[in-house]
Order: sequence, then structure tokens, then C-alpha cells
Amino acid sequence: MRIGFHVSIAGGFSRSVERAFGLGCTCMQIFSRNPRGWTAKPLDPDDIAGFKTLRKKRDIAPVFVHTNYLINLASPRDDLFEKSIEHFIVDLERAERLGAEYLVIHLGSASGRDAEWMIGRVSQALNEAMQLHPPQAVILLENTAGEAGDVGYALEQIGEVISRLGDSVRIGICYDTCHGFAAGYDVRTKKDVNALVKKIEATVGLERLKGMHVNDCLLEFRSHRDRHWHIGEGKIGLGAFKVLLNHPVFREIPMIMETPKKTEADDPRNMEVVKSLIR
Ligand SMILES: [Zn+2]
Ligand SMILES: [Zn+2]
Repeated sequence: MRIGFHVSIAGGFSRSVERAFGLGCTCMQIFSRNPRGWTAKPLDPDDIAGFKTLRKKRDIAPVFVHTNYLINLASPRDDLFEKSIEHFIVDLERAERLGAEYLVIHLGSASGRDAEWMIGRVSQALNEAMQLHPPQAVILLENTAGEAGDVGYALEQIGEVISRLGDSVRIGICYDTCHGFAAGYDVRTKKDVNALVKKIEATVGLERLKGMHVNDCLLEFRSHRDRHWHIGEGKIGLGAFKVLLNHPVFREIPMIMETPKKTEADDPRNMEVVKSLIR
């Protein structure tokens, strides 16, 4: 099984590999730049080379790059929509130069518009981006918690977006357990987990499931709020993760934890809990 964390790139990309390795990761996720700003420092070729070499040495694969949070491919504002496409391509290019296998993106938010409009908007954005820059990395659409205006909380919506892409060869999904739980996909019993697998199969296809974000959820089932929590300490709970992590479908999928890092002890504890649950 491949398990890792979202790790910081402070000090350079090479440092992020050592950080992940130190935490016992066998896969990892990073941002390729400050996720809350529009600027991006040019990539340093030496740092990229170091990143690639270290990854091989430490056997960390795959690498997920998460897109910038400002990107909103569902924005009803044309200026922000265009800027989002442009910056999505920037993130895609950076992920590819780093040799990352996957680029993860949330579908975005368009308050006041209906789901049908948003699905059209996001498909248009992805089609434009892929025409301007045919992807080498695989683009993963991540399910959301369904906070106000969010699109992509229902797997049917993600499936619909994918069906409208001219070229969907390099498109997959990343399933976030916290977002899914908040959006109404229960996983607290074995039956629930099996139903979720069936749902993914029916809406997007299991072959498109390339990554999992394994996060517990601080808030109640169907809260529609995105509040990640430590594995086994939230409303999803330990028993559910035991079933999730050992499910024959899910255990084949690389898993990334995006759990809170309030103290130095948080990541090691979450890794220990996950490892203790795996049979
Ligand atoms: Zn996530
Ligand atoms: Zn989240």
C-alpha cells in the first residue's frame, strides 16, 4: 500500500521529499507554489533535479501536486474564469516539470448558479486548458464537501463533467473521505463502504480512481463543511477507517492524509494509527 501526507515545500522541493520520507511516507502530495497567491517563483532546475533523484532513492511514488486555492474553474466572473484557466495551466506545467504523476483540482464554486450551469462551465474550462496545454500529468478531479456554491460534491456531477471532456484520457478522480462524508457519502459500516465503491463505479468508473485523500471529519455527517480531522478522532471514526483502508478496491489506491498539523506529534500519530489499522 502507498500512504503519505501532504507535506510542506518550505526550503525547496528536495526538502519536501526528505520531510515525507522522515514521516514514513511512500507517496506524497505538495503544492508547487504558495497556494493562496497568484504569483509563482520560477522553478529552480537544480532543486527539480534534486527532487527527482531523491524521490527515486526514497521510493516515493506517486507524487500528487495540489492546485492553487484561488483557481476557480466554475467562476461566473469572466475575468476570474480566464485567470483560473491560465493558472491551472501554470500548475499543470509545474507539476509536469517536477515529474509529478498527478495534479489534483477541486471543481470550484459558483454561488447562485445551478449545478447544470456549473458543470458546463467547468467542462469548458478543462477543455480549454487541455487544448492550450495537452496534459502529461493526469488531472484528478476531487470531490468537495458541498459548501455554499461548491460544485463537485456529488459523484454524478464529476462523472458528468468527465463525460463532456473532448479528451478524457488523462482525467481521473481523487476521493476525499472527509469531503465525501460531509457531502453525504457515509462510510461508517461495511455496507456503506461497499455502497460507496459501487457509486464510484457507476458514476466515474473505478479505473478513474487514482488517489484518495484519507481524512477524518470534525463535523457531523452531511454537515457540508470542510473540516479535516485526525484519523479515528472525528465523526468518521476508527472502525470506518479500518474498513476503508482494507477494502480490496481502496487498498490498491495511493492514500494521502491532509490531517491538521498543529503540533510536531500530529503526523507521526496519524501515520501510526493508519498503519495499525492495515491488515
Ligand atoms: Zn482533499
Ligand atoms: Zn478539504
